[in-house]
Amino acid sequence: MNLQALNNISYGMYIITTEDNNKNIGCIINTVTQITSEKPIISISLNKENYTNEILKKTKKCSISILSEKTNKELIGRFGYFSSKNTDKFKDTIYEKIDNLPVVKESSCAYIIGDVIDIINVETHDIFLIRVKKVEQLTNDTPMTYKYYHEVLKGKSPSKAPTYIKEENINLNKEENKYKCTVCGYIYDDAKEKIKFEDLKDDWKCPICGVGKDKFIKL
Ligand code: FE
Repeated sequence: MNLQALNNISYGMYIITTEDNNKNIGCIINTVTQITSEKPIISISLNKENYTNEILKKTKKCSISILSEKTNKELIGRFGYFSSKNTDKFKDTIYEKIDNLPVVKESSCAYIIGDVIDIINVETHDIFLIRVKKVEQLTNDTPMTYKYYHEVLKGKSPSKAPTYIKEENINLNKEENKYKCTVCGYIYDDAKEKIKFEDLKDDWKCPICGVGKDKFIKL
């Protein structure tokens, strides 16, 4: 099986949020699908190990922001590679409380608010069926596709994403110096950059997830 071929399936980029006892929780997801049109129901898939999954089962309500191509990598890094369990992802994020949910408005084309009406157990993941209660358009910017995220922003799938492929094909040429971010998997390749990794300033940050040089390992 060539699992890489599954990358031809189209996805978007979204931030799902919920609120648990005044604590804001959220993460990036790429799987949002509209299931029905009248009184619309959408579905999302979340890894069982994901903190947002655990809390969403309890709160049973969420907001989903549809991210645009203008979304900066830091926002994706903040919501994509860290856990709300030990990080306040909302501290530096533009959001608004709507129906007691922290709706991320930064870089969002639109947002959806809804209630969880069913949860389907699928091995490592759960599919949440969500009845849409509110949808608002925020901008006319182009929504970001997962392909755009990978190809233009050079983003990687976090290990808990439904689309994650183990040992993502990174063609390693042993002659060259490559450094891998241990948080998000981003590869810094000296051969492709103007500055060698070792010469980067101490305050340099991973362009995908925002961690420092100390979180990189030499391959
Ligand atoms: Fe990183």
